[in-house]
Amino acid sequence: MIEIEVKARAEHQQVKELLTGMGAVLIGVQHHCDTYFNAPHRDFGETDEALRIRSVDGRSVMTYKGKKLDTVSKTREEFETEIDGGNTRSILLALGFYEAGVVKKTREVFRYENMTICLDNVGSLGEFIEVEITAESDVEIHTKDIFLFLAKLGIGEEDSIRTSYLEMVLLNNISEQCEEKKG
Ligand code: ATP
Ligand code: CA
Ligand code: CA
Repeated sequence: MIEIEVKARAEHQQVKELLTGMGAVLIGVQHHCDTYFNAPHRDFGETDEALRIRSVDGRSVMTYKGKKLDTVSKTREEFETEIDGGNTRSILLALGFYEAGVVKKTREVFRYENMTICLDNVGSLGEFIEVEITAESDVEIHTKDIFLFLAKLGIGEEDSIRTSYLEMVLLNNISEQCEEKKG
């Protein structure tokens, strides 16, 4: 499957009112603890791939993401499967994979037509919106639909962020360490 996704910063309070007015349905609230791994044979930071174990409210899911396929969104190939988190982690570590970082967040999930809308609260990083369509083809049409939908929420193409939460968390950690050194 292809993950067609656009991420932006967003005030949740304001967006929620608009979503409810449009008839979007709240599916649920999830608590994510995401551990990203890196490979011994190539650097996923450089290849723009991702390997993740997500612990979500008692379940564990493993995800592989391929590199981004365009320059405006976060569209990429994605494979996902439910797993035993502890054992899978041990297998990866035994094979030489290693932890690249951990991201914790709370995600409110809404559904509107063929779109999944996630309102993410990522601790000190703040509040974000992600709008996603999962499809096998027609990436350009779906990307256009996502941007049309975001425009209704007052979010423009120029607001789209292509930086991952992991990259933001890692950058945040570096700047905190710098502050500590200065202080
Ligand atoms: P999802 O949309 O699947 O719920 P998410 O919204 O929690 O995921 P994103 O920021 O959209 O998180 O995606 C995770 C990102 O982490 C990927 O885009 C990937 O490129 C990035 N990433 C994974 N491993 C590494 C690494 N080793 N170095 C740098 N970036 C990485
Ligand atoms: Ca995402
Ligand atoms: Ca996604």
